Amino acid sequence: MIPALMPTYNRADLAFERGEGARLWTVDGRRFLDFGAGIATSSIGHGNPHLTKAIAEQAGRVMHVSNLYRIPEAERLAARHVANSFADSVFFGNSGAEANEGMIKAVRKYHAETGHPERYEIICFEGAFHGRTLATLAATGNEKYLAGFGPPVEGFQHVPFDNMNALRSAISGKTAGIMIEPVQGEGGVRPCSDRFLQEIRAVCDEYGLLMALDEVQSGMGRTGKLWAHQWAGIEPDVMSAAKGIAGGFPLGAVLAKEKVAQFLKPGTHGSTYGGNPLACAAGNAVLDVILAPGFLDGVQRVSAHLWRGLEGLVAKHPSVVEAVRGRGLLCGLKLKPEVSNGDMQGAAVAEGLLTVAAGMNVLRLAPPLVITEAEADEAVELLDRACRRMTPSAAKVAAK
Ligand SMILES: *Cc1c(COP(=O)(O)O)cnc(C)c1O
Repeated sequence: MIPALMPTYNRADLAFERGEGARLWTVDGRRFLDFGAGIATSSIGHGNPHLTKAIAEQAGRVMHVSNLYRIPEAERLAARHVANSFADSVFFGNSGAEANEGMIKAVRKYHAETGHPERYEIICFEGAFHGRTLATLAATGNEKYLAGFGPPVEGFQHVPFDNMNALRSAISGKTAGIMIEPVQGEGGVRPCSDRFLQEIRAVCDEYGLLMALDEVQSGMGRTGKLWAHQWAGIEPDVMSAAKGIAGGFPLGAVLAKEKVAQFLKPGTHGSTYGGNPLACAAGNAVLDVILAPGFLDGVQRVSAHLWRGLEGLVAKHPSVVEAVRGRGLLCGLKLKPEVSNGDMQGAAVAEGLLTVAAGMNVLRLAPPLVITEAEADEAVELLDRACRRMTPSAAKVAAK
């Protein structure tokens, strides 16, 4: 019989009842170090007092009123995001896929309103992940995810990641924009080079295309800067955000330059819950933490420390781990082809560490941004033990 909760996920048999920082406890009392953070979402850790207080207080005042009225918490959150990014204006929704839908609509609308309705195609990349709605599935372009859901939404092309020649030759008179994750998350924790982002910016300027970044996973401090594209010193025209921006409360956002945002007038786009007082109270509380002086420097320091430990694992377990990849606290272990990331994830759970599998046989690590160096060391120690479980010779010795 089908479970009452629709089985759209392969769920591990773990149920958590409490969390604190990077720790989670199951209902049967087992303790875990959480280096998955709800897929890069619990950005400031579990049970963060500042965030829980902000949510509780806002829930007690007013939770939801609708966008038919002014929402001071949303106005404040938008203004703070504008002050700390390339953007001039922000739209709030509830998820990453919804943010990407809004971004795709914004890109198309810009060209329609500036005299080029024929420009609606968006160039995306192999290995991308942009969400599970019909348009974001088409932008994702993964045959496996598209199968069975009818004709894919038209207007998305895919070219190899980090390859400028392929990208240039895909541009046509119908191209509206280029949509890319600065670090592909689901696709295998694969960062594109800063140079590639700079070249995309240049090619967009050359052809009048919009540069659209999906920073749903790479953003909100995860790489050690507020937004991952800042490492490349460029600015996109439009960007999507979600996952970490409200620390686990559902919130998504489209950040845009005025030249793009100006065409999203009343009636062109909307969302009933989007940017409601409760979600924005959470978003503001998370910003308080992440924008505090020194916080992002701390993320850079702890991630450098973590990476040193992970590089040690590559040296120590060459038959299990091939390389460390990613950027900052969106990183992962690229495993040897003989070792499956699913098995390695299971071995890590057995040692008390939560991780997330990603494409290309990568074990993804995306801990809360508030982890300490001691917690990074502990994760490396637990991964070391998980590697020992996965080492073929060790398995053979154990079997004897
Ligand atoms: C998770 C993710 C999405 C989809 O976000 P949802 O909130 O699950 O809809 C989109 N883009 C990227 C890069 C993501 O990592």
